[in-house]
Amino acid sequence: MRAMSTSLPQLPSITLHDLQGFITASGLPKFRAKQIIQWRNKGVLNPDNMGNIPKNIRELVNDKLCCQPISLTDKQCSEDGTRKYLFTLKSGKSIETVLIPEQERGTVCLSSQVGCVLDCPFCHTGTQKFEANLTAGEIIAQVLAVKEDLRQNPMQEGLHNHVTHLVYMGMGEPMANEAGVHQSLAMLMSEEGLHLSRRRITVSTSGLTPQIKHLGEEYPVNLAVSLHSAINAERDILVPINIKYPLEVLRDCLNAYPLAHQRHITLEYLLLDDINDRDEDIQALLNFINPERERINLIRFNPYPNSPYSGTPTERMNSFAKALISKGIRATVRRSRGQDIMAACGQLKSSKAIIS
Ligand code: SAH
Ligand code: SF4
Repeated sequence: MRAMSTSLPQLPSITLHDLQGFITASGLPKFRAKQIIQWRNKGVLNPDNMGNIPKNIRELVNDKLCCQPISLTDKQCSEDGTRKYLFTLKSGKSIETVLIPEQERGTVCLSSQVGCVLDCPFCHTGTQKFEANLTAGEIIAQVLAVKEDLRQNPMQEGLHNHVTHLVYMGMGEPMANEAGVHQSLAMLMSEEGLHLSRRRITVSTSGLTPQIKHLGEEYPVNLAVSLHSAINAERDILVPINIKYPLEVLRDCLNAYPLAHQRHITLEYLLLDDINDRDEDIQALLNFINPERERINLIRFNPYPNSPYSGTPTERMNSFAKALISKGIRATVRRSRGQDIMAACGQLKSSKAIIS
């Protein structure tokens, strides 16, 4: 009898070495493993679509591996080219992934968990109860599915048609799923995998400092930290993990994070009307930031049904940015993408109700 597919090794995350093991153990030629990995890296996960692989090997792969740990259930396209994908896991749970195309790059925003345990009060994912950590295979499969979609349905004129950058900014807290995220990074960065440079990958975290340290030691990719306030009492409410790892602890952790040449840590700062956009908030931020190593990305609040906050008006956002820039801080305002399909930052929730 065939084993439960969820307990099988997953094709998206398997190493060449392990795949060779399966193939040679069945008395089949080793070079087939490399061919299968080449298909996998292109985004082809169904062995039946691997043209140069003989039927007996396709059957073996189908039998011994979980080839497609996630399946595409729904897709929405925004006017600006952004695509939002709803995937169903083998467990029946669902996650969302977003492709953000620009002229020169294609960025995939990956989910790392189903729901999130951290409960930031402004975040739609945070309103969903935590259900599961994604496996490395489920994380990588999101990238591969987008690659496949771009091959089947090329991007409109003027927008990049390839996946060039990855951001772990979808559903969930990547640093609360170290095993899945680390293993996915290993494959995404390895030569036999997608071979993406650490400079093209960003992990966003609400600030789990021990895990940020591990990330820097193991996979020193770009780091983005959801700061949202540089005042402890305020951040305790907005980003509750601050109660466990307050600003002083975060400060030391960020100072120690290894940076690639000419790279900065991004401090994400969501502006909420009359909550964290006051003059004293600017002052606290100026006191907190290490301008040599860090820059600020101001985020407009993206509303969702029944969201409890309102965003800072544009005029105040601009004056907030100007106040930082005038002190020599690198500050930008993030352009919101895919808002018409609820694909923007903090809007992902994966409930069918918001998809249809
Ligand atoms: N858990 C990680 C990554 C996922 S959230 C983190 O918190 O960093 C990705 C980004 O979206 C974070 O900066 C988060 O604070 C922000 N975000 C959450 N809800 C939002 C909303 N409603 N509007 C705008 N940004 C939001
Ligand atoms: Fe979780 Fe990030 Fe949302 Fe906070 S902002 S609830 S950490 S996904």
